[in-house]
Amino acid sequence: MIGRKTFLRLSGVSLLAVAGRKVIAALTAGGSAAAAPVTRWAMVVDPGKCSKAAEGCTKCISACHAAHNVPALSERRHEVKWIWKEPFDRAFPSQQTSYTEAVFHGKPLMVLCNHCNNPPCVRVCPTQATWRRADGLVMMDSHRCIGCRYCVAACPYGSRSFNWVDPRPSIRNLNADFPTRTKGVVEKCTFCEERLAKGRPPACVEACPEKALIFGNLEDPQSEVRGLLRSRYTIRRKPELGTQPEVFYII
Ligand code: SF4
Repeated sequence: MIGRKTFLRLSGVSLLAVAGRKVIAALTAGGSAAAAPVTRWAMVVDPGKCSKAAEGCTKCISACHAAHNVPALSERRHEVKWIWKEPFDRAFPSQQTSYTEAVFHGKPLMVLCNHCNNPPCVRVCPTQATWRRADGLVMMDSHRCIGCRYCVAACPYGSRSFNWVDPRPSIRNLNADFPTRTKGVVEKCTFCEERLAKGRPPACVEACPEKALIFGNLEDPQSEVRGLLRSRYTIRRKPELGTQPEVFYII
């Protein structure tokens, strides 16, 4: 008969052996974390296609703002925006003369959070209310936001909005599946992380009738975004700042 102490010693040894075998199996099968499929989300914007849309098309903006309960505030100084139109010359102040075709001059194009690889907004946040995920998404947790607006000042693209007033009364059609925010916190585009989690593309990408917004995994050589980056000439906003945006523009 095996005593209690012997039993515990033997079962401990067996468990260690099992755990050890699993680790060895994972490593020899190339199953370590480093071998897991890697994702880095990115967007390619094709302003040429966007310009073919009907005059004043804002379907991507409407879809995004409806999905995320972005308030429609009439006062410009209170405006909250996740994706919006910016004149080419303002979006690319340092690149317009060297690269642009005349067709882009003065034309509006879609801009949003660039989900920078090296995001200054994340570095300055004192409460870690904003952070960069391993898949490249720059996230925002309004519950941790203390409204200091350091991130708003640090973002060189104006991609963050501060809620100067209570946004809830100005939400046109409340989406009960997405949280609303309060006065005094910052918000921005999250590349629709809630949709990506369900295997769906961002709302703006899905809504664009011209397929001018292309979204995908930069780490996948077969992805459409990688194909476009190989075959078309693209630029990023304010590259001289070293933020390394993950939103590319075909020009
Ligand atoms: Fe941060 Fe602005 Fe870059 Fe978005 S665009 S990650 S808000 S610095």
